[in-house]
Amino acid sequence: MRKKIVAGNWKMNTQLSEGIELAQTLNKKLDNSENEEVKVVIAPPFTHLASIKNVIDSKKITLAAQNCATHEKGAYTGEISATMLKNIGVDTVILGHSERRSYYYDTSETLSLKVAQVLANKQEVIFCIGEVLKEREAEKHFEVVKKQLSEVVFKLSEAEFENIILAYEPVWAIGTGKTASPEQAQEIHAYIRGLVAENYSNEIAENTSILYGGSCNPGNAKELFSNKDVDGGLIGGASLKADDFKAIINSF
Ligand code: PEP
Repeated sequence: MRKKIVAGNWKMNTQLSEGIELAQTLNKKLDNSENEEVKVVIAPPFTHLASIKNVIDSKKITLAAQNCATHEKGAYTGEISATMLKNIGVDTVILGHSERRSYYYDTSETLSLKVAQVLANKQEVIFCIGEVLKEREAEKHFEVVKKQLSEVVFKLSEAEFENIILAYEPVWAIGTGKTASPEQAQEIHAYIRGLVAENYSNEIAENTSILYGGSCNPGNAKELFSNKDVDGGLIGGASLKADDFKAIINSF
């Protein structure tokens, strides 16, 4: 059975001391039995990862990074490799977030290299896809997500694809307060699962977790997560408050 997952993308927020406090507070609020039902992931900034690893219980919280380099090591000034992340105990990496695609020029080509690095280190990828408002208005959202998946993760072997978690994040809903309606989310999540079945098998499609992201909060999470093809959320703003994030986790 596929996993239910709630992942918090902290983006470039919190100073180290605040980040440690947030992680500790969340760790205290969670108990092991909750984690058996819902996998909880947090993705703090790079500078916080090693310190936060020491203050959380890895049975309750999985630590993720928000990006990684296209190469393993070498003359790539300013980059952090998947191997370095693995070395400090980070087993999950978010790739393809729309902010990275638009501000830092992540393309399908660079994302393929990054995914390969993560998989080479036996880590998991949370792979983000989603259309911008213009594309949704032109009813091109199905086409857009199909292209984003086909150019990167659908090129993987079956065994590799088992390490991929998908996150559908309509760009028009990220940080805007606008959320996809539960019907819109279910429609495109079912479509994405169908694409996984076409490219791999029904069994793999059934086992793939597909998260929704975009202004998800304690007020709308329950309705979104109650859809049969929505397996959890990738949460931005609301993951910065332990109570809100916990309420979202409890929405299942
Ligand atoms: C995100 O950045 O992945 C996200 C979903 O942000 P927010 O929840 O703030 O819309």
